[in-house]
Amino acid sequence: MQQPSSDHVTIGILALQGAFAEHQVMLQKLSLKKRVIIVLVRQQEDLDKCDALIIPGGESTTIALLARLAGLLEPMREFLKTKPVWGTCAGAILLARWVENAKKGGQELLEGVSVAVARNGFGSQVESFEAPLEVDGLREPNRPFPGIFIRAPVVLALRPAPADPPIQIISRVSASLLPAGQTVVSPDEDDTDPRDPRTIVALRQGMHLLTTFHPELTKDDRFHEYFVKECVLPTLGSRSSSPA
Ligand code: GLN
Repeated sequence: MQQPSSDHVTIGILALQGAFAEHQVMLQKLSLKKRVIIVLVRQQEDLDKCDALIIPGGESTTIALLARLAGLLEPMREFLKTKPVWGTCAGAILLARWVENAKKGGQELLEGVSVAVARNGFGSQVESFEAPLEVDGLREPNRPFPGIFIRAPVVLALRPAPADPPIQIISRVSASLLPAGQTVVSPDEDDTDPRDPRTIVALRQGMHLLTTFHPELTKDDRFHEYFVKECVLPTLGSRSSSPA
C-alpha cells in the first residue's frame, strides 16, 4: 500500500570535503511543489534523516577517507540499496563500482552504479574545460546545459550485471575532448552502442544519477531539479518519508 505522501523531501549532501555548500545553494533555489529540506551529512545520524543523498565534487580519495573516519562508508553503501544517490565528479567516482588510476594503495568506493571510471581521465591538457551539453530529460531540453569539468573522471565501461537496473545515458561530450592516441579499454563485448564510452558524462542507473561534471558550480538549477523530480520523488511513494 502506498504511504500518504508528505509535503517535503529531505535531501542530504555529504559535507566532508568539496563543493557541498554549492549544492546546498542550488537546492535552496529550487521551486518545487514539495518543500526541500537539506541536511548536511557528516555522521550516520544525519544520513538516517534523508530520502536521498548528493555526493559532491572535490577529491574522491579524501572524501572516502573522511567518510571512513566518520563511520559513513558502510551506512552509505546500505543507503544506496534503497534510496537515490547522485555523485558529481569526485562523487561520481565514489559512486562507481570500479576505478582506474586510483591513488597508490587503492581507494574505497560505494559501488552503487555498475560503471568503471578513470580518475582525471580527460588528461592533463584539458584538465578543466567547459562544454555545452545536450541532456535528455532536463526542463527546456533545447537549451544546452553548461558542463563544467575539473579534473573530471571518464567513464571507461558500462558493466551492469543481469540483475542490475539498466543504465541510461543522458549526456555525452564530443570525442574530440578525449586524450588522443589512447584507448583506455576495449569496448564491452555486449555493448550495443559503438560510441566510445569515454564520451559519456551523465547517466542514470535506476534511481541513481552520475555526472562527471559540476552542475553545482553553474547558475543553472535544471540538474538539481531533475534529480529531485525524476530520481527522488518517484521513490517516495514506495516507502514512508523521513520524519520532519
Ligand atoms: N580528480 C578528482 C578526484 O579524483 C575529482 C575532481 C573533482 O571533483 N573536480 O577525486
